[in-house]
Amino acid sequence: MKDNSKKTKFIFITGGVLSSLGKGLAAASIGALLESRGLTITFQKLDPYINVDPGTMNPFQHGEVYVTDDGAETDLDLGHYERYTHAVLGQRNNYTSGRIYNSVITKERRGEYNGGTVQVIPHITDEIKAAILQLDGSVDIAIIEIGGTIGDIEGQPFLEAIRQFRTDQGPANVLYIHLTWVPYLKAAGEVKTKPTQHSVRELRAIGIQPHILLCRTETQLSDDIKAKIALFCNVEASDVITAQDVESIYDVPLCLHKEGLDDKILKHLNIWTGAPHLEPWEDLARKIKCPANEVTIAIIGKYVDLTESYKSLHEALVHGGVANDCKVKMRYVSAEDLDNTGAGELLTGCDGVLVPGGFGKRGTEGKICAITFAREKKIPFFGICLGMQLAVIEFARNLAGLKDANSMEFTDATGQAVIYLMKEWYDHRTDKVQIRDENSDVGGTMRLGAYPCRLVKDTAAHAAYGTEDLEERHRHRYEFNNDFRELLVKKGLVVSGTSPDNNLVEIVELADHPWFLGCQFHPEFKSTPMKPHPLFRDFIKAALGNNEKWKNKNAA
Ligand code: GLN
Repeated sequence: MKDNSKKTKFIFITGGVLSSLGKGLAAASIGALLESRGLTITFQKLDPYINVDPGTMNPFQHGEVYVTDDGAETDLDLGHYERYTHAVLGQRNNYTSGRIYNSVITKERRGEYNGGTVQVIPHITDEIKAAILQLDGSVDIAIIEIGGTIGDIEGQPFLEAIRQFRTDQGPANVLYIHLTWVPYLKAAGEVKTKPTQHSVRELRAIGIQPHILLCRTETQLSDDIKAKIALFCNVEASDVITAQDVESIYDVPLCLHKEGLDDKILKHLNIWTGAPHLEPWEDLARKIKCPANEVTIAIIGKYVDLTESYKSLHEALVHGGVANDCKVKMRYVSAEDLDNTGAGELLTGCDGVLVPGGFGKRGTEGKICAITFAREKKIPFFGICLGMQLAVIEFARNLAGLKDANSMEFTDATGQAVIYLMKEWYDHRTDKVQIRDENSDVGGTMRLGAYPCRLVKDTAAHAAYGTEDLEERHRHRYEFNNDFRELLVKKGLVVSGTSPDNNLVEIVELADHPWFLGCQFHPEFKSTPMKPHPLFRDFIKAALGNNEKWKNKNAA
């Protein structure tokens, strides 16, 4: 809700030298620190690429697509922001060049520019500023991260827009933070400041003077080095912050606080707050550092070489570990290897098996092998979205006599399509009946965002959530086929969660198993380190119960 009495201040975060310095985590950590001082915050990620959103991008290239409550398919950095803070994000919190241009071109076609020549400056830059200004009045501080690295051609309109923004909003309302790299050169035996000098010079050439430099380094920067960077980059030495490599990403807020970052930000923005309350972060750091137990979870996936594709999943498993005082070792297993080698060899020694979401046929038979293995050997199993659909297929084939059971996503022979494209269903989010068929648009037909789910009592799902009604986030096209529901239930499949009208199957389980659960939604998007998701918590708990060392210790 926009509150006009509130003037939002804006922090812009840019990145220099090279990518992967952890700009998203830095932004999220700044958000956490400001929240710990009682301020309200929100975020926005501005991505310079041309895709309108990351929804259609290959996770191999871009990492996970993060889904918000309102059904936006966004950059994975929004996942960091939501995990580190209480901010609730959505469509307005992630813009790409493509989306900005799309909207300018649409306006041009409608004649909204009255015959004027439409240009990068001012039309594209105005559109960017308007996107940022949507956040004005909603919170105390908006943290805006600019994707990419200074010097990228496609990032320039965003940088020009944020340069103008300070003049528009007044200097007291806008702060620039630049994340840069200070490498340690072994041969020289010292850290090098030149890449940072160049990066800041480039930023200043386009009219942006950063106020604070976050220097990503292996070791703490000495006062001399800070003074040198300050001199060359035209900032105060006290505004040169060491952002040292840390063991756990959840240590970052504490490390930046130790360097005084939150104090510096507040001083620049002329905001007074009380002392920060960082106890929850200190508690979390302690729990992550010295866990009492350990479990190994096999993650059966297609994108196993790029774990960025499973970012939220990875974090949700860590959170599930935190809830059980347990370190979670993740063993990424390629589904195609399983197809060739068989499950026994690759899954031995795992305390739990997880099949995450995914698209396309490749690797699905290997994943089904893993599910059979987990079911028969009574290893805790967690299937998410595609993982749930494959668990239904596995059950239908091996326990309900439907030998050809499959999903319409993988075969045209649809006689036993236990997972299919539902032609007509009531959409609780839009309060409309949705119609789909095979010819519908690839992007437009997905069930996206938060949907309600009602649980059945005396099930593992109900035990985990401890409530009957909940909402979880979706991103899929296919659904459980109700034509087979009666048969599968008769054979022992437990349907423990459905849409409130009982039409869409949301969760399935097996009763005769320590913990075997598949859900049509993505619970990993709602797990945070401070509030581990109940399904991940209980899955890790079950895996711990399956762990030999833990069993021996507790029997002794
Ligand atoms: N490919 C499946 C579908 O579209 C599952 C998607 C997913 O796992 N996110 O329904």
